[in-house]
Amino acid sequence: ASERLAPYRTKITETADKKRINLGANVSTRGTVDEALDINVDQVGLFRTEFVYMSRSNYPSEEEQLEIYKDVVERMDGKPVTFRTLDVGGDKYLPYYDHEYETNPFLGTRGVRFSLLNEHVFRTQIRAFIRASQYGDVRVMFPMVNTVAEFKKLAGIFEDEEKKLGLSLNRRIPLGIMIETPAAAIHAEYLAKHADFFSIGSNDLTQFVMAADRMNPNVSSFVETLNPGLLKLIHYIIKSAHKENIKVGLCGELAHDREAIPILLGLGIDSLSVHPSHVLKLRKFIHELDSRKLHVFERHIYEVESESEMMDRVAKIIRHK
Ligand code: PEP
Ligand code: MG
Repeated sequence: ASERLAPYRTKITETADKKRINLGANVSTRGTVDEALDINVDQVGLFRTEFVYMSRSNYPSEEEQLEIYKDVVERMDGKPVTFRTLDVGGDKYLPYYDHEYETNPFLGTRGVRFSLLNEHVFRTQIRAFIRASQYGDVRVMFPMVNTVAEFKKLAGIFEDEEKKLGLSLNRRIPLGIMIETPAAAIHAEYLAKHADFFSIGSNDLTQFVMAADRMNPNVSSFVETLNPGLLKLIHYIIKSAHKENIKVGLCGELAHDREAIPILLGLGIDSLSVHPSHVLKLRKFIHELDSRKLHVFERHIYEVESESEMMDRVAKIIRHK
């Protein structure tokens, strides 16, 4: 299989009819960055910074973080690196932080909720990002944002640190929102007026829309990745972003789901970001698709009643690709 994929290492990502697709890598460690560099990705679409914080006995300092972020940014050599601010809580805990017991941790103090509760920790990370931006194309996104007010608060802190650092940066660092709660998705039209970009966190968005814990095997059959309701919501997020002329990517597991990809491309997603281990398979699959045939999904997602019907529609179009 790897022999079959080898020719795709150096290829650009485009459909059979030559439509260029932006394909990024999700990384977290130096090793995953190496993997990404080896397969010609367009960007780091998601740098999960939790790992910078987790396997240690205290918070990483600004300098320690800068060293890690600068290293990725420099090695990506001008290609964008989108850092996600610390996203602990849920299933990820810091060994040196006194996390309070929560009955529903995935609905608890996660993502930016943790950051706003521990503002000094957040500010240290922001400063490291801003300083790393001197070495390449840095972008920053916030996980688990629900409202415009939350985003404004986060962006305000960001700008405050930018001012305090007083670096003469040649460009503004784009600030994005991860769309991964139903509140954010349903209100995407307004969030899009404030954010510089969106990234759909389909793992969380799916578990919240289906109300089925992504870590609980007892309810995994309730998680429908191609649920028509979920797809309509994704379509609305994409339309809302495009109305405000901002880009929207998707960085959850859905981005390498063979049935979901034709739909996502048909709905106009601007980029996909996946773990490096999925990149070549995904690129090969995209090379086989005719983008002109995928726009029908803008209609199909409103016509079907069930996930299985949705799957039938995809199968039909893929067969004739
Ligand atoms: C997501 O929720 O889809 C996502 C990319 O973030 P994580 O899996 O780290 O929650
Ligand atoms: Mg998430």
